[in-house]
Amino acid sequence: MERKNTILYLVVPCYNEEEVLDKTAGVLQEKMERLRNAGRISSQSKVMFVNDGSKDRTWPMICEWTKRDPLFAGLCFSRNYGHQSAILAGMMASRTRADAVVTIDADLQQDIEALDAFLDCYEKGCDIVYGVRNDRNTDGFFKKATAGIFYKLMHALGCKTITNHADYRLMSKKALNALAEFKETNLFLRGLIPTMGFQSDIVYFDVKEREAGQSKYTFKKMMTLAVDGITSMSTRPLQLIMLLGFLTCLLSAGIFISCIVDWAHGRVVPGWTTTVASTCLIGGMMLLSQGIIGEYIGKIYMESKGRPRYIIDAMILREEGESEDGKD
Ligand code: UDP
Ligand code: MG
Repeated sequence: MERKNTILYLVVPCYNEEEVLDKTAGVLQEKMERLRNAGRISSQSKVMFVNDGSKDRTWPMICEWTKRDPLFAGLCFSRNYGHQSAILAGMMASRTRADAVVTIDADLQQDIEALDAFLDCYEKGCDIVYGVRNDRNTDGFFKKATAGIFYKLMHALGCKTITNHADYRLMSKKALNALAEFKETNLFLRGLIPTMGFQSDIVYFDVKEREAGQSKYTFKKMMTLAVDGITSMSTRPLQLIMLLGFLTCLLSAGIFISCIVDWAHGRVVPGWTTTVASTCLIGGMMLLSQGIIGEYIGKIYMESKGRPRYIIDAMILREEGESEDGKD
């Protein structure tokens, strides 16, 4: 199939983005128009905002934009399910209509001009194109440090993430159909998608400051993403526990032998500090190990329920010749 005049869908997750949404919609509208006029994308292309249970005016604003211009479509979650679920829902809702889908944050931090390079790669036959940030200068010290540790840890645990790639990516219909086959609840797209194979490429882009509003990734959300990422992609922490247990056994055997030797020599000194220190150490290790095992058991429990990953409350998408569809 020739890859020209692509039906491109932009999927934009939005959580309490009222401050930036109008600006974003304007910028995306203008960019899509330029691409359309240049004949790079089809007139059936769309920008799909996914409202991830926002508590502010985000959804009414999205509705307003869909009325103003059929370029815009909206998907509304019943509550906040998180960024990963929002982009997954957007991709799944678009894949029947689009040739290619690009996911991009609502805050315009990711350079929209990189879309041309994404389309170049797609037209040359790539099914997945990863956007990778050139540097982390716009991040604070804390985010830079934690992100660095996270990517190093993921690599050490044998997970093929692409360093500094954060869900700004293009996927073809073929790749999206393959992604739809992954039924797991605990989804870490950045880890999962690189394992899918397909012809892929990387596009580098500069990260800008957030246009307006605050980061919607709280520390808690970031930690959840990191733990979900690791537990969904690797079981190596469980093997590490076994290794830790083995080393502790060796250590205990050594201590035991030394105790026997002391006893045989009549040096039964009451070593209070050693006792307390080793109890604390072993207690801590046991609890940590149980916590890690518990995390996996919790994940198995959630997966076994097979609950839906998100619930869609409403969808607005106007196709050519149609007035409005979907809403309730
Ligand atoms: N987001 C979301 N649900 C959430 C948190 C964030 O859909 O629970 C969206 C948010 O609206 C934005 C994107 O995810 O479009 C990235 O969030 P943000 O820019 O706040 O993260 P940061 O760039 O600070 O990592
Ligand atoms: Mg951001």
